[in-house]
Amino acid sequence: MTVLVVIEHDRGTLAPASLEALAAALRLDPHVEALTIGATADALAPELAAHGAAVVHQVHAAVLSDYGPEAWGEVVAQAVRVLRPTVVLACGTDRGNEVMAQAAARLDLPMVANCVEIDAATWTITRVRWGGSLLEQCTLSAATKLVTFAHHSHEATPSVAAGAVVSLVVELDPSLSRTVVTERVERTAGVTLATAPLVVGGGRAVGSAEGFAPLEALAARLGGVVGCSRAVTNNGWRNHTDQVGQTGTRIAPDLYIACGISGAIQHWVGAMASKQILAINTDPEANMVTKADYAVIGDLHTVVPAITAEIIRRNG
Ligand SMILES: Cc1cc2nc3c(=O)[nH]c(=O)nc-3n(C[C@H](O)[C@H](O)[C@H](O)COP(=O)(O)OP(=O)(O)OC[C@H]3O[C@@H](n4cnc5c(N)ncnc54)[C@H](O)[C@@H]3O)c2cc1C
Repeated sequence: MTVLVVIEHDRGTLAPASLEALAAALRLDPHVEALTIGATADALAPELAAHGAAVVHQVHAAVLSDYGPEAWGEVVAQAVRVLRPTVVLACGTDRGNEVMAQAAARLDLPMVANCVEIDAATWTITRVRWGGSLLEQCTLSAATKLVTFAHHSHEATPSVAAGAVVSLVVELDPSLSRTVVTERVERTAGVTLATAPLVVGGGRAVGSAEGFAPLEALAARLGGVVGCSRAVTNNGWRNHTDQVGQTGTRIAPDLYIACGISGAIQHWVGAMASKQILAINTDPEANMVTKADYAVIGDLHTVVPAITAEIIRRNG
C-alpha cells in the first residue's frame, strides 16, 4: 500500500492537522509519503520527516505562490496519476476538504470526508457527520481512496523517517488561479469568539443589528464577546465571524449566555463545549432552555438590560 498525505500549509506555515493526518497514515502503513504544494512549503520537509514521511514530494509552479483550491486540487490529481498511491489522505479542514473535493472531481473518484477511523482490511470508514453529533460507517471502493481525517481524531506523533525530498513535475494552466488567496486580514485583536471565557449570544429574537447593543454592553461588563446564530447572520445583522455553530465557530467559554436562541442542532454543536449555559428565552420548551444549566424564561429585551443594570448596581 502507498499512502500519500497532502500537507496543508499557509504560505509555509504548517497546519497542525497535517501532522495528525501523517499519524493517521502511519496507522495504515509504515511507509508514508507526503506532498507539499508550492515553494513556500519546501522548508517543511524536515518536520514532515520527523513525523513519519519517508518521502516528501515537492511541487513548484508560478500559480502556487499562494493557496488556491483549483490549482491545489489539480496538483493532487496529477500526483495521483504519476505516483499511483493506494490512499490519499488530507486534513478534514475547510481547505483539506476543498482540495480533495477538487481532486476527486478531476479524477472522477469518490472521496470520504471527516473520517475518524479506517479499517483498511475491509475499507470500512467511520466518519463524523452533523458537526460531531453523529458517527456514520461507510465502505469505500475505489482504485485510489481519497479520504480526509477529522481534526483531532488522531494525535500528531513524532516518528522519524528518511524524508527524502523529491521534485514532482506538474503542468498547471494559468487559468487554475481563478481562485487564489490575495490578502489576509487580522480578524480581531485580543479575545476571539473561539477563545473567549464568556460569550453572550443573540438569536433571531434580538430583532435587528441595533438590537445587539444591550448584548454588547453585557459582554463588555463581563469581559466577554458577542456571538450569534445563523438566523442573525442570514439577516445581515452581524458578520459571519460572529456565528456560533456547525457552519460558524465552535466556542468553549466558561459561560455562554444564549439570548433568544432556539438551540437548533446546528447551533448546539458549536455551543455544546461551553462549561455552563444560561438560556434567556420566552419558550420554556426551547432546546437551548432544556439543555442549559440555568434559564430565565422571559423577554431578552427586558432580561438582558436588567442583568447589566444589576451588575452595575453591585460593582459600581
Ligand atoms: C446546513 C445548516 C447549517 C447550519 N449552521 C448553523 C450554524 O452554524 N449556526 C446556527 O446558529 N444555525 C445554523 N443553522 C440554522 C439552524 O438550523 C437554525 O435555523 C438557527 O440556529 C436558528 O436561529 P435562532 O435560534 O436565532 O432562531 P429561531 O430558531 O427562530 O429561534 C428564536 C428563539 O428565540 C425565542 N424568542 C422569541 N422571542 C423572544 C424574546 N423576546 N426573548 C427571548 N427569547 C425569544 C424563541 O422562543 C426561539 O427559541 C444551520 C442550518 C443548516 C441547514
